[in-house]
Amino acid sequence: MAGERDVAGGNGVWGRGWRGPLSGLLDLFFPPLCHQCRGFIPHAGRVHVCPACLATSRPVEPPLCTICGVPFPAPAGIDHPCGPCLTTPPPFAAARAAFLYEGAIRDLIHRFKYDGAVQVRRPLALLMADRLAPLAAEKAPDLLVPVPLHVRRLRQRGFNQAVLLGALLSREWQIPLGRRALRRIRWTEPQVNLAAKERLANVRGAFAVTDRARVEGKRVMLVDDVLTTGSTLAECSRVLLRAGAAEVCAVTIARVAWD
Ligand SMILES: [Zn+2]
Ligand SMILES: [Zn+2]
Repeated sequence: MAGERDVAGGNGVWGRGWRGPLSGLLDLFFPPLCHQCRGFIPHAGRVHVCPACLATSRPVEPPLCTICGVPFPAPAGIDHPCGPCLTTPPPFAAARAAFLYEGAIRDLIHRFKYDGAVQVRRPLALLMADRLAPLAAEKAPDLLVPVPLHVRRLRQRGFNQAVLLGALLSREWQIPLGRRALRRIRWTEPQVNLAAKERLANVRGAFAVTDRARVEGKRVMLVDDVLTTGSTLAECSRVLLRAGAAEVCAVTIARVAWD
């Protein structure tokens, strides 16, 4: 019963959660299988990714940049703003990712986005909810806003991965979801095909706030799947701030490692 809160409160995804005396019986009929290797997970929590698969993706751990969240290579030290954030501060107050974009997390995101494996959204969102709960508690956002897809891309894919993740985060963190707060008003090249410096130009002017009143004076938390250079999140933040948002921060499942 308390399980729903345990995960959001950061007590760990491997906690016993709601599993009571019936859990053995449930495991018999609905064995918890790992979304990645399909292996049976004994004593599974709510996240059905086995510890061995999860260990193939490093979580983003301190020390990291207090603004963009990039982890520093040095194993010890305190969090501080990184060089690029000091020279050109991004419009968002903070961006945080749960994992580095590698291993099982990378595969799961790939299957979710490109193979339409929407069932994978649940473990990904629960891992995000658990690992990024400290930021949600610190920033106390009024609204979660998924990064929108262009309607053409939405038709191709059939769903917006950021909306599906945002809906689960909204439930876990008890923060309202503004699923249409932002919309994409211009078609853009997929960012993966572009070099870092072309990315910002590519997304410039691509987003618009649909309802100013919804974001005015609000603390907004953007939700997306992967952070690469942060250009998309920066542009969404700029648009939200221009519409009167009080502060914008961002969360993603994964971020591309420091390069
Ligand atoms: Zn596994
Ligand atoms: Zn930084």
